[in-house]
Amino acid sequence: MEIINRRQRMGSLARKLRRENKTIGFVPTMGALHEGHLRLVNEARQMCDVVIVSIFVNPTQFNDQSDLDKYPRDLTADASLLAEYQVDYIFAPAVEEIYPPGASTFVYVEGVTDTLEGISRPGHFRGVATVVTILFNTIRPDFAFFGQKDAQQILVVQKLTRELGFETEIVVVPTVREESGLAMSSRNTLLSNEEREKASIIYQGLKEAKLAFRNGERNALDLEQIVRSKIESEPLALIDYVAVVDAETLEPLNYIEEEPVLIAVAARFGPVRLIDNTVLNRKQ
Ligand code: AMP
Repeated sequence: MEIINRRQRMGSLARKLRRENKTIGFVPTMGALHEGHLRLVNEARQMCDVVIVSIFVNPTQFNDQSDLDKYPRDLTADASLLAEYQVDYIFAPAVEEIYPPGASTFVYVEGVTDTLEGISRPGHFRGVATVVTILFNTIRPDFAFFGQKDAQQILVVQKLTRELGFETEIVVVPTVREESGLAMSSRNTLLSNEEREKASIIYQGLKEAKLAFRNGERNALDLEQIVRSKIESEPLALIDYVAVVDAETLEPLNYIEEEPVLIAVAARFGPVRLIDNTVLNRKQ
């Protein structure tokens, strides 16, 4: 496994791999790796000849400076995990490699970014779309792997991939959870033990709504209320949003006539903001 810091070297290496007809699997991350990331890596390892994982805490997708400052970073631990998972290359550029001084070019995906995380975190998806475009343009992967936990991010990445003409297939990997049901996240390490334990209430709320849907509930507001009440029963939780939306357009729903439907949640536990979601689908 080799760690690459320079964008130019990453680009020329990827060109060489393509000339050798190797399929390239790419897993973009911000590091502080956990089993969720490793599931993506595993998937990439199985599907592709060469696996490249990027570790880059992307400043442009943080709308809150203190969130960026306290974001966990541990390249040494990440590198030893990725070596175990037979990753071929880590791309770990410095900020100036991705955004040279004076950089002022951004990618902005309209529509799907106008809601949910796009409202709560202004500028977040502009940062995500910009860095994904720069990384895709450098590596030109055959496959890129993203987690279902960040459902809205997947829609943004799928849209920009199609519309900018990248020949990359986006592979979506299911959310990996802690034993309690809490979705794994690098930010979970910033929770106290009590907060971490109590934060599983988000998943419990989502599960209750899913069960109600299976039992025939089609009123979106009632499903939303099931999730809200559950989370509100936990005094440490502060809900940012609970939304029942069309899983493809993210349009809000009153009554569910068509699936798939996404129930998306964002909630704070102490200083940490967590997101999670579930997809409702009759066929599942
Ligand atoms: P991040 O480092 O948080 O930017 O995440 C990098 C990638 O890992 C994104 O595609 C995330 O959706 C994915 N990911 C993060 N947490 C999980 C999880 N618990 N299960 C599956 N994928 C995840």
